[in-house]
Amino acid sequence: MIENIIEFFKNLPAKICVTCGEEIVEQHDCYGNKCDSCNIL
Ligand SMILES: [Zn+2]
Repeated sequence: MIENIIEFFKNLPAKICVTCGEEIVEQHDCYGNKCDSCNIL
């Protein structure tokens, strides 16, 4: 059961920043399509 959940998250496509192409680590609700660095701008 637990292994299935891990596999599920592994298979999720990573969010990619539309500006720089970096993988986005989601920590907030309102991240949009940009990474932390690009959100500052
Ligand atoms: Zn970015």
